[in-house]
Amino acid sequence: MVMVSEHNVNEKGHLLIGGIDSLELTKTYGTPLFVYDLSLIRSRARAFLATFQEENIGAQVAYASKAFSCIAMYQVIEQEGLSLDVVSAGELYTAIQAGYPPERIHFHGNNKSVDELMLAMEHKIGCIVVDNFYEIELLKSLTTKLNQKVKILLRVTPGVEAHTHDYITTGQQDSKFGFDLINGQADQAFQQVYKEEFIELLGLHCHIGSQIFETVGFKLAAEKLITKMIEWDNVFGYACKVLNLGGGFGIKYTEQDTPLEPSTYVKEMIIAVKQLVANANLEMPEIWIEPGRSLVGDSGTSLYTIGSEKEVPEIRNYLAVDGGMSDNIRPALYGAEYDAAIANKMGTPKKVDYTIAGKCCESGDKLIEHISLPKAEPGDILAVFCTGAYGYSMASNYNRMAKPAVVFVENGQHQLAVKRETLEDLIRLDLPYHIEKGRD
Ligand code: PLP
Repeated sequence: MVMVSEHNVNEKGHLLIGGIDSLELTKTYGTPLFVYDLSLIRSRARAFLATFQEENIGAQVAYASKAFSCIAMYQVIEQEGLSLDVVSAGELYTAIQAGYPPERIHFHGNNKSVDELMLAMEHKIGCIVVDNFYEIELLKSLTTKLNQKVKILLRVTPGVEAHTHDYITTGQQDSKFGFDLINGQADQAFQQVYKEEFIELLGLHCHIGSQIFETVGFKLAAEKLITKMIEWDNVFGYACKVLNLGGGFGIKYTEQDTPLEPSTYVKEMIIAVKQLVANANLEMPEIWIEPGRSLVGDSGTSLYTIGSEKEVPEIRNYLAVDGGMSDNIRPALYGAEYDAAIANKMGTPKKVDYTIAGKCCESGDKLIEHISLPKAEPGDILAVFCTGAYGYSMASNYNRMAKPAVVFVENGQHQLAVKRETLEDLIRLDLPYHIEKGRD
């Protein structure tokens, strides 16, 4: 085995994923295929947890499962002792079916329905992250009706903009999420819940954005939240037990990306929170975080079969694969960038500049704008790296494309985690038309 640009390669020049020949995987499972190397997920999970333990800080590391959810993934995350962040009845149901301990589940969302809140209460999940005044009213009435207590965090927007792309920035003032910290909404929300008999307010939550490479935004957000904690402690004698600083830790999609180690994000957060809390003579709250992408992003690789090629002279060479925006919408949605390689030609010199096109009927269905690869031929396998987060979970059936299979690799073994959709699956929910045709 040798290394080619940070990737393991066997004597045939084939990309290895988790020690397994990627060509063996495509032969067994077909393409497009998502492959997850579980060792990376486990090492990230352990690094986040270990840093809190080393610093002796009460903490929860909740996997933001919107990044990628399925029963097997929830089981792996559970094995690692993490908590879980879900944002819909669908994610919650999947987690429950996976046997996830409900007390370690946190429920997010800016428009939770009555049914979703009822499901959360039925399973007595660990925490509901309350997002708006409507939800407070719903919770008040449901908890009273069911005579059941719930634990909550209030999600606030601290007015901190993370250094990242606009579409994945959520902590600034103009956001659909949470109560504004600056204009008084957070105070109003606090006053509506802190004395409620059936609502236990654990503390505050914020999420300032995604794909963040610095710690300054997290520290700034912590400062704003702790300032509010001090105020509520002084005015109402309220002791905040939990400070949830969200997710958003960056990963290396391309050479340009410079993420920090999980331990660095966590350590710097802890230092900042400890200092702010000590200055104000407050009890140290638990620190909760919600990594999604940084747990599963770089463990995922998408494998595609290369098909047609189109040269636009002096402009570009399109190389088309058998998937596209239907299994990875991120490039089309917000210009996300990826690195890739031809999995069966890892040692071959890169000679051609390609644009990787998907097969969906949208000109914008391009996975990579420019990438230098060996001369490609139909039947070659293209590996797109770092697709483990927000790839499969955002997949659609646009053009009635069937969703790919998902395979987990660990200890030299592989197993299907999600089956490939079939053509029959695509019409499973369709019903024939039966209203009588009207007269002309
Ligand atoms: N927490 C919240 C509230 C989020 O909205 C998100 C992502 O959108 C995350 C955590 C996870 O972010 P990331 O996958 O960038 O870590």
